[in-house]
Parts: sequence; C-alpha cells; structure tokens
Amino acid sequence: MPLPQNRKPDPLNIGLMGGTFDPIHIGHLVTAEEARQQFSLDYVIFIPAGLPPHKEKEEVSPAEHRCLMTTLAVMSNPSFIVSRVEVDKQEPSYTIDTIRHFSTCGAPGANLFFITGADAILEILTWKDYPELLQLCTFIAVSRPEYPLEKLGEATDLSPELISKIHLLEIPALAISSTFIRKRVALGKTIKYLTPEPVEQYIKKHGLYKK
Ligand code: ATP
Ligand code: MG
Repeated sequence: MPLPQNRKPDPLNIGLMGGTFDPIHIGHLVTAEEARQQFSLDYVIFIPAGLPPHKEKEEVSPAEHRCLMTTLAVMSNPSFIVSRVEVDKQEPSYTIDTIRHFSTCGAPGANLFFITGADAILEILTWKDYPELLQLCTFIAVSRPEYPLEKLGEATDLSPELISKIHLLEIPALAISSTFIRKRVALGKTIKYLTPEPVEQYIKKHGLYKK
C-alpha cells in the first residue's frame, strides 16, 4: 500500500485500525472519522485481518471479500486507506507485528495511533507484548455500547506512564457489530444504512452471510 507523499514539515499522524471487517460497517467508519478529527490524523489505515488469531475456529469470510468490502467502504474518504499487510501474510498476524511493520517500513517516522474499540483493547492489553505496543504507538480506545471504558483501569496493572499512552474517545454510541449484520442477512432482513451502499450491494452480489 503506497502511502501518499508527506507534504507536511512535521511527521505524519497515522491512525491504524485493525479488524476482521466481516463486513465493515458504519460503527467502524464513524469511529475512524471521529479519531481522525480529534487526533488530527492525516490518514487512517484500515487493516483487515488475514487469519484472525482469536477467530480461528469461527467461520470468517475469505480475506479478499473482506478487503474489497473495506476498500468500497472507504472509497469516498480521501484520508482513509486500506492495507493488505495482514491479508498478504500466510500466517496469523498479531497486533504487535503489524505495528512493528508500520513503525519500521510502512510509515517510518510517523506518529502512530492504534484505534480500537473498548472491547478489543481489553484483549490487547492482556498480551505479553503490550509494553512494547504502548512504546511504539498511542492507543485510542473508543467507547462501544456494553463495553464501558471505566473498566480499563480496573482490568490492567499498567504503570501510570503507559496508561497515559491510552486515550479514551467517546463516540456517538452505535450498537452495531458485524455479527449483527451477518445475522440480519441470514434472516433476510435489511442492512440498508448499517453499512455503505456499495458494501451492501457487494454482499448481495456474492451471496455472503446467507445460511
Ligand atoms: P464482530 O461482531 O464480527 O466481532 P465487530 O463489529 O466487532 O465484528 P471487528 O472487525 O471485530 O468488528 O472490529 C474491529 C475494531 O472496530 C475493533 O477495535 C472493535 O472494537 C471496533 N468496533 C467495531 N464496531 C464498533 C462500534 N459499533 N463502535 C465502536 N467500535 C467498534
Ligand atoms: Mg469484534
């Protein structure tokens, strides 16, 4: 994924948003856009997961479908980009590998921000490499219905210095998940306005999520 040229004298501020994106929905897009504005991000890079380590046993749509839907969803936003870095790897990617990639060759010199929902950050911070993660990038933990951000302090034994690298971001609550969309498609219910129209069309065209 070629990053557009940096025309600023300062380092670029780049948001990274990983996910299964099966499918991408407006919860993801609103989150990324809010983070872009609040943290003055030049770009937000969406990174569809190749073989998500935590979803191995569940059924996940082929990576190409998820990548294409993500590309369709971000088409109209000049600050949004899709990266195939995880999809093109044969083995499962961990967040630490992806962040190392962007800090070394993907976007060297940039200030990196990892954008994640409150549910996902609680998982990430239980991983053994989290101190390095917090050194390489700033975390933006976004509120999500049913995952109150206050839980974060209780759930970790991070030092105050590391905690200061996690920024909490309240976004307009969107009780939407990919699971919810998949279930609705399986039941033949409309998903209009839950995901951008080209994604809705793509799902229809390829018969995704039908039982
Ligand atoms: P699934 O139901 O399949 O788990 P999901 O909707 O949780 O899908 P993911 O691809 O798992 O989507 O999530 C990618 C990232 O987006 C995670 O950090 C997750 O917390 C965040 N996210 C997903 N939906 C929302 C939402 N409605 N509001 C805020 N953050 C969200
Ligand atoms: Mg999820």
